[in-house]
Amino acid sequence: MRARTLNQIVSAARSYSTTTTTITTASTSPQRKNLVGLSLDQLQHELETHVSDHRSFTGLQIWKHMYQQGITTFDNMTTLSRSLRSYLSDHYVVDYGQVKLDRTARDETRKWLVGYDDPRAVVEMVMIPEPSRNTLCVSSQIGCSLNCSFCHTGTQKLLRGLTAAEVVGQYMIAAHRAGDFPRTSANHKRNLSNIVFMGQGEPLYNWRQVSQAIRVLTDERGIAFPKPKITVSTSGVVPLIPKVGSELGVSLAISLHATRDSLRDELVPLNKTFPLESVLEACKEYAQQKQNRDRRITFEYVMLDGVNDSIQDASRLVKILRDLPAHVNLIPFNPWPGTKYRTSTNAQVDAFEKRVIQGGIFCSVRRPRGSDIMAACGQLKSSHESKLKAAQSSTA
Ligand code: SAH
Ligand code: SF4
Repeated sequence: MRARTLNQIVSAARSYSTTTTTITTASTSPQRKNLVGLSLDQLQHELETHVSDHRSFTGLQIWKHMYQQGITTFDNMTTLSRSLRSYLSDHYVVDYGQVKLDRTARDETRKWLVGYDDPRAVVEMVMIPEPSRNTLCVSSQIGCSLNCSFCHTGTQKLLRGLTAAEVVGQYMIAAHRAGDFPRTSANHKRNLSNIVFMGQGEPLYNWRQVSQAIRVLTDERGIAFPKPKITVSTSGVVPLIPKVGSELGVSLAISLHATRDSLRDELVPLNKTFPLESVLEACKEYAQQKQNRDRRITFEYVMLDGVNDSIQDASRLVKILRDLPAHVNLIPFNPWPGTKYRTSTNAQVDAFEKRVIQGGIFCSVRRPRGSDIMAACGQLKSSHESKLKAAQSSTA
């Protein structure tokens, strides 16, 4: 059941107001190496290679300061000797990236622009508060190479993949602001409870960095984020889909959007490389892995008026997902300037949902959130300088 009707959401979006705070954190000095994003083994190795004044447990001490206490300056890592703190301050940094903009929508959805080394390297991340959970939507790339025809990010060329440090940094920024540091015990309740890789970019086309980031996020000795509460969303990079389960152990979402190859080729051009049947086969492999037996795979389906939203589409969807532990998530299309698509009508979304549920498949509708600040699904687009300036001046 939907908590609010689409009409209520639309009217909420019309009467929006936003509050804005601009925050700047310390930037990475090119001479000092960033410790964020290194695995504990890599951190130990770094210390063994470069730092004479260290013990076998120094890496773990630093790691706990960084990821359990949320400390960003070595001076505050008081369990380390004074001389070591001074050495670390001269040679290393704990850098999450620079928060360029922090905006809160009327519905409390919060969007940040986070900037890195180059003025064009800016990504957006979004925190979506709900009564039972707070979800952080992180980006994995700056732009995207896959050009899905309905996605705003897809209109922007890929600038580069984010590093593990930049992905972990997004979480650290949001977790600080959510009040999740310091973490005093393993069962300390998290305000930020879920992470979804549904921001800019295709996470499986940045596998090395994204998988490293997930290992850091889930390492029990540090952040210890629960694996099932992390969801990797992919447009269908077939060879890596089973590895989301076997190597990372996290939850999976597939951006399906069509039930026939001819239409999916148009909406998700990656389908020409990895057609529907191969995507569904890879999902079966994921579902059969032992640790995933109780998990559902989320199938995202954007509702495009007159394109993929007929009852015949819904019936075909039921048919192709019948053998999978599927949860269909219908996403009413979030429009962006210049798009040729329109959002399906409420009646069409309701009829589609009903048909899928009648077919015995879990189905829900994702309410658009934060659309007054262009923070909704598929509205994220990397902010090159001009856009950043525009955003800042519009909220001044
Ligand atoms: N690249 C990955 C993850 C980022 S996109 C992927 O494609 O899965 C996150 C989700 O938003 C995807 O399901 C995507 O298809 C959907 N999406 C993109 N643009 C949208 C739009 N304008 N309206 C609604 N959903 C959109
Ligand atoms: Fe890239 Fe995902 Fe957008 Fe497609 S939907 S262009 S894969 S971010």
